[in-house]
Amino acid sequence: MIKRSFFGIARPKLEYDTIEDVRPEPVSVKPGRRVTLFIDAPFTRAGRTMIKKGDSVVPGQRLQLYEDNPKAYTISPVAGRIAEISSFLGMMEKQMTAVIIDIDQEGGDSADTPFKEVSQNPSLQEAARFLAASAGKPDLAQFQDPDRSVKTIVVLGADRDLMTVTNQYVIKTGIASVKTGIDILRKITGVQNVVITVAQHQVQVAGSTAAGVRAVGSKYPLAHPEMILRYLLPEQTGQGGIALFTAEAVASIGEAFSSGLIPMEKIVTTVKKDGTRKLVSVTVGTPITDILAAVGEKIEPGDRLIAGGPMTGAALYSPDHPVEPDTDAVIIQGKETIVEGTDTPCTNCGQCVRICPVNIPVNELVRYMDAGEYEQAAERTALFSCIECGLCAYVCESRIPVFQFIRLAKHAVERMNAAEEANA
Ligand code: SF4
Ligand code: SF4
Repeated sequence: MIKRSFFGIARPKLEYDTIEDVRPEPVSVKPGRRVTLFIDAPFTRAGRTMIKKGDSVVPGQRLQLYEDNPKAYTISPVAGRIAEISSFLGMMEKQMTAVIIDIDQEGGDSADTPFKEVSQNPSLQEAARFLAASAGKPDLAQFQDPDRSVKTIVVLGADRDLMTVTNQYVIKTGIASVKTGIDILRKITGVQNVVITVAQHQVQVAGSTAAGVRAVGSKYPLAHPEMILRYLLPEQTGQGGIALFTAEAVASIGEAFSSGLIPMEKIVTTVKKDGTRKLVSVTVGTPITDILAAVGEKIEPGDRLIAGGPMTGAALYSPDHPVEPDTDAVIIQGKETIVEGTDTPCTNCGQCVRICPVNIPVNELVRYMDAGEYEQAAERTALFSCIECGLCAYVCESRIPVFQFIRLAKHAVERMNAAEEANA
């Protein structure tokens, strides 16, 4: 039995919401003064970047960091001038580069960007070169990985976390773009087997995409990609590589090649302090503070801002943090509703073990993690089988932040393994 709410007033049910639960018309949010974009590469060679502070940029312009790393780039969603390029430490010490652009309030012309030209003849190479930073963050580079042989493309039309309806909205209002995106993916990758997974109430609309349609159950975490692969599509998993895309990412591919413009407007489900939700359509790179102003919400000292859904999202340090291409939800949690984690010892109640969807002995795992024995945790309790659904933390009566500990433990083991490899 679930004894407590993880989330106070904005209490998530353990059932996914449907798009009908949320007012469907998104509020349009444009960045006011500047945007911040992240490039997935460390900023280690400051003097040798292809982009420089003071450079003018136009909407749709490709901003590549280093000449010898074509995968490390972002796309400018605005006209303006680069104000700063700097290091940024992401989740779990991930080293990235932040590019801040001051917006030219007069606007700019994107008509002559190189993507317009190449969009006439869709190819995998150009799609990977231009669309990695577009709405939904389509990962096309995975088809270029020589160690992978993708046999199946899975389009995720059901949102993975609770209270979030971003991809449902795309299925509801943008199914034509999803269909075009699927057709283009088939053409440029050669992978013909495409499956789209959607909530039960969207099975019919998803049928128009000519992909195989699978209905996802309404109970959390059945729409989690790992659960879909393990339980809904085991036959595809056995056939080799699977490439996962959100519905929004596939719609971006469809829109990009239809219009010649790179889609940089992102749908974000916003949950306010009183638990009400608003969908916003926001330019990638926009500070979250601009969203707060648009939905009439204020952050007070002690409140918490979360990027992502209530079960798996991560707290942000600042409302100036930008919307990223894969930010599906933003939650503002009032200080009076925050349930803090504690250092109360595990009572061995077994709730976490009973609820874990992949049968991890979470209580044992907690003991290893408490003792800092991360390698033993990995070896003896299948730490890496954890799909990071957050259910164990949700039910823990001692309020142990189990989920956060698990992420830290995985990170610690990965770092140890990387160090061992480097030494070898
Ligand atoms: S987060 Fe917790 S409940 Fe979810 S899979 Fe991992 S150990 Fe199991
Ligand atoms: S970690 Fe929490 S839920 Fe799991 S056995 Fe211990 S007290 Fe119970």
